[in-house]
Amino acid sequence: MRLDAKIPAGSLAQKWDRHRFELKLVNPANKRKYDIIVVGTGLAGASASASLAELGYNVKTFCIHDSPRRAHSIAAQGGINAAKNYPNDGDSIWRLFYDTVKGGDFRAREANVYRLAQVSNLIIDQCVAQGVPFAREYGGLLANRSFGGAQLSRTFYARGQTGQQLLLGAYSALMRQAATGKVRLFPRREMLDLVLVNGQARGIVARNLVSGEIERHEGHAVVLCTGGYGNVYFLSTNAKACNVTATFRAYKRGAFFGNPCFTQIHPTCIPVHGTYQSKLTLMSESLRNDGRVWVPQTPGDKRQPSQIPEAERDYFLERKYPSFGNLVPRDVASRNAKEQCDQGKGVGETGLAVFLDFADAIRRDGRAAIEKKYGNLFQMYAKITGEDPYETPMMIYPAVHYTMGGLWVDYNLMSTIDGLFVLGEANFSDHGANRLGASALMQGLADGYFVIPYTIGGYLAGTRFAEVKNDHPAFTDSVKQVRERTARLLAVNGRRTVDDFHRQLGLIMWDHCGMARTNEGLAKARTLIQALREEFWRNVRVPGSAQDLNQSLEKAGRVADFMEFAELMVIDALARQESCGGHFNEAFQTEENEARRDDANFCHVAAWEFTGDGKEPGFHKEPLVFENVHLTQRSYK
Ligand SMILES: Cc1cc2nc3c(=O)[nH]c(=O)nc-3n(C[C@H](O)[C@H](O)[C@H](O)COP(=O)(O)OP(=O)(O)OC[C@H]3O[C@@H](n4cnc5c(N)ncnc54)[C@H](O)[C@@H]3O)c2cc1C
Repeated sequence: MRLDAKIPAGSLAQKWDRHRFELKLVNPANKRKYDIIVVGTGLAGASASASLAELGYNVKTFCIHDSPRRAHSIAAQGGINAAKNYPNDGDSIWRLFYDTVKGGDFRAREANVYRLAQVSNLIIDQCVAQGVPFAREYGGLLANRSFGGAQLSRTFYARGQTGQQLLLGAYSALMRQAATGKVRLFPRREMLDLVLVNGQARGIVARNLVSGEIERHEGHAVVLCTGGYGNVYFLSTNAKACNVTATFRAYKRGAFFGNPCFTQIHPTCIPVHGTYQSKLTLMSESLRNDGRVWVPQTPGDKRQPSQIPEAERDYFLERKYPSFGNLVPRDVASRNAKEQCDQGKGVGETGLAVFLDFADAIRRDGRAAIEKKYGNLFQMYAKITGEDPYETPMMIYPAVHYTMGGLWVDYNLMSTIDGLFVLGEANFSDHGANRLGASALMQGLADGYFVIPYTIGGYLAGTRFAEVKNDHPAFTDSVKQVRERTARLLAVNGRRTVDDFHRQLGLIMWDHCGMARTNEGLAKARTLIQALREEFWRNVRVPGSAQDLNQSLEKAGRVADFMEFAELMVIDALARQESCGGHFNEAFQTEENEARRDDANFCHVAAWEFTGDGKEPGFHKEPLVFENVHLTQRSYK
């Protein structure tokens, strides 16, 4: 199968306008004849559901939580990018486009990234109109701050709660449509399969997580907005419920998976402190606007930070990257923190931490100013660690945070299955091999508010649909498979808990497919994952039944998918014999230990096709063509 990204012709700046003009329209009276299934209610899903219902489509919206508002998007702290150039510091759509392509180490599609930069400004207008309380300057203009990979300020924020405020806006729009009856909400449902009829996505099979009932839902198109899969590592900054199940099961039905090995490790998280910890906490990147990252110059120096004089500190990011300083992109900051710790300069009990110090900022701007900007983050840090970051530097270490990989989509956000669209973190995304801070919220909302409303219309207007009811044999077959898998999980009755397996899988992935990778390590990981998966199906213990609320069963299903998906990540990492962004293979680095790309052989999206259980996945390439940006060695010096 040839992957066709369906990038419109014309100049970069005109592609989206031209495409919108060329897309077929569904006339207003006909929209009500179409049923659209949206899975997920984070920023991507809530904005898509609200926008599609507003247009007149009948929308059925699903999420695993009891309220759409509990989607993981609510956790986003730092902000959302847009090219408004309010601070007058040199921003433009072109610069946001360029920074994003460069930040992603030239492994994203130019046309998509340009469109993202174009619609970024519309997002801010939309959210302001909804009442999202963005921070403002004294004169009333929306305030901006800086995030990694940019030398200017383009990040809009609502203190350290930007995701929450944006989600409240999208949720309000969604609930308005729920009240009109155009959106039917299905909370506490987990999509367990995608149903295809004549090669088109025509529905889903979902488990009612409260009653255990297996439900069938039909529609004319399915929109997956089910978030990222960072929890494959067990420990991550993601909400515990984040999973790969919906996208992985769609993969098994024929949707290709793009760049699964591209994982983002965020440099500023509270370090791991114990074996039985289940979650890691992010300290927003916004803190690097004012916080200075340092370690003692001498390995093994265990003095308190206050006792280490200025001359004996190494502000390693400022030293190595004078232009960007502490605001280098996440992949660069993370690798450097690891390098310092590997050299024995790490701080704290485990030696796996570096300092993030606000003393200079507090001296310069005063405590009140710092509290105004980051108060809730400081409070969170103090509650978790028992230390007061106003008085002593924070200790931080990199942690798994975001996944750039996801289901492959074309310019219309449609996967390799007709009628299956994928939005937000769930698709392979516009971020290439590394996402810049504050760009995920931008992408999720761009996809939901401003892309899918157009592109889905083009698909629906140009497609013939057979009448499909939920008693179609394809549904019956899918329900049977879902029931069998559930029964199989419950029947194992082994000795190890699901969490125990998940923790072990996470360690394998962190050690061998994490911040630094080697071919030997990846090959070893593959063997270890296969052995663990075999043991899982022989020795996992899932208590309870399938007929009622059973969180162990929910977790077991998700971990079973992670067990298979982890191997796909490793296969992808092994196939990409270069380093780029978050994928750092130690064999490919510059003399200064930066990621060394191989543009001649790997300037492509890797898209994987499921070919059957136990079989090698099929490999497909979408070559990335850069007509507007010159490929260079990324430099933040
Ligand atoms: C701690 C933290 C802070 C962050 N801060 C920022 C930031 O400041 N700026 C920024 O740009 N990005 C940030 N990010 C990244 C950003 O929050 C996410 O990438 C983004 O919110 C993902 O949105 P989404 O709509 O794609 O998915 P999510 O918000 O994860 O929503 C997924 C939805 O899918 C549903 N779902 C999942 N699986 C199923 C299933 N099988 N069946 C039914 N429903 C399902 C869930 O219930 C949920 O409703 C942060 C991430 C973390 C972890």
